[in-house]
Amino acid sequence: MSKVKYRLKDTYDFLRKCPETSEDDTYLITADITALYTNITTEKGLEAVSYYIDRYGDELLPKRFTKEFVLDLFTFCQNNLYFKFKDTVFRQISGTGMGRIYAPAAADLKVGYQEIQVDLIIENRLGQEVANHFMNNYFRFLDDVFMIWRKSLPEFAVIIEVLNSVDPNIVFTFESNLELNRQSGGIPFLDVEVYIKNHQILFDLFSKVTDTFNYLPFGSSHPRHCARNIPYCLARRIVAFVSESSNVNKRMSEHAVRLTKKGYPRGIIDDSIRRARLLSRHALLNSSRQNNSESENNTSPGPVYFVSTYNPRAKNLSPQITSIVDNLNLSLPAGKSVAVKPSYRKSPSLKNQLMFRPLTLAKVQKCGKDCTFCSYIKTGSSIKLKNGLQVRTNGNFECSSRNLIYIATCTGCSESYIGETGDQLLTRWTVHRQQSKLQPTQAPVQADVHFRLCGKNKYYVFPFYQPRRNNIFLRRRYEELFITKFQPQLNGKLYN
Ligand SMILES: [Zn+2]
Ligand SMILES: [Zn+2]
Repeated sequence: MSKVKYRLKDTYDFLRKCPETSEDDTYLITADITALYTNITTEKGLEAVSYYIDRYGDELLPKRFTKEFVLDLFTFCQNNLYFKFKDTVFRQISGTGMGRIYAPAAADLKVGYQEIQVDLIIENRLGQEVANHFMNNYFRFLDDVFMIWRKSLPEFAVIIEVLNSVDPNIVFTFESNLELNRQSGGIPFLDVEVYIKNHQILFDLFSKVTDTFNYLPFGSSHPRHCARNIPYCLARRIVAFVSESSNVNKRMSEHAVRLTKKGYPRGIIDDSIRRARLLSRHALLNSSRQNNSESENNTSPGPVYFVSTYNPRAKNLSPQITSIVDNLNLSLPAGKSVAVKPSYRKSPSLKNQLMFRPLTLAKVQKCGKDCTFCSYIKTGSSIKLKNGLQVRTNGNFECSSRNLIYIATCTGCSESYIGETGDQLLTRWTVHRQQSKLQPTQAPVQADVHFRLCGKNKYYVFPFYQPRRNNIFLRRRYEELFITKFQPQLNGKLYN
């Protein structure tokens, strides 16, 4: 990625690279690439990826990956873009998958490759001087483009034409009213607003009108240092992004108000502002560069992370880990010692738990071995009860599945019975069948007798819920819950 010429890593990167002074006729211009991800065809993507591998593969690609492997992998990913909407699975047939992990990288390489051609065409059509001006004043973060333009407007029209001519699928849409952004007023780009004042290009923190400032509430279940660090990181961002000190003051008071609303103690907020104000803007922008280049070019092995899921009730393990590792290091030769850092994975939030939906539709199937139970099991992903309610299955079940809740429906009267089993489903029904021969008042489950008397032993069974642990108490809780929910008529006493 570092080889893509105009690519910005983040807002810090933009602020470092953006020129500081302007002349009288300076335009600040933004553009975006319309629907970038969905407009990258596999063919054009492959062209770009293979160009960068030819150029920089030796330097950047780990030795165990060949060029062919990377290209195959890219093609495979592009041909297998599945997503689910409501209950239907779709395959995306054109472009790069939105939200896929490789999509931003593919987009950067694709546009980066295109920009190399753009540079050449501009140089041919407008000459070296204008081309240099373009190269020094064009910035791009994925599909957002920022430009500073000091040359003539007809020349700028050529630039737009060239940017849009290389690949008809990639369309740059420019801010239409150029006069508006000239000298007066700011223009938003990434997290900042860029404006010109006294021949200087200045920045202020920019937040969209729709930004809800949904910071982590102070009381949230996260490692304590996370919640404590947020105010400081936000305040530091203000110092780094805002050029004029009068604006810094304004942003700091907004910052304090927002965090107070999220329950942060006054002391932590004030402390974050005080510490951030001690930093210089220049140092902040440049220190983040050092950190980034370190992490990108680091060849020596870093610390090993001991990752565990965060739980506020769990004991803090880091003292034990540190002492074990220290002992281990004593027995290693000098220079070979290892560092272990504890690190926390976020525990799944309520939203994660509620929103997770498997890609494949869960369904019930026959075991296929033509067992005694095959003719009783109801296949499919859901069934409709006599009372109109629909029961969906949450897993893939068959005759020998265990640890589940099932619903059995009598073919005589179409009424249902809900039960649970830790055993295999087919074993459970061997017991049911035996007990159905008992006198109605002696049978432990009267529904069994009902199935014999009313449905002449014809019924179908639909397993639909598997608790996460195989535990009888958990299963009985779910059984009760589903009985309340689906109101089956055959649970409970049917005969006196
Ligand atoms: Zn079977
Ligand atoms: Zn019946």
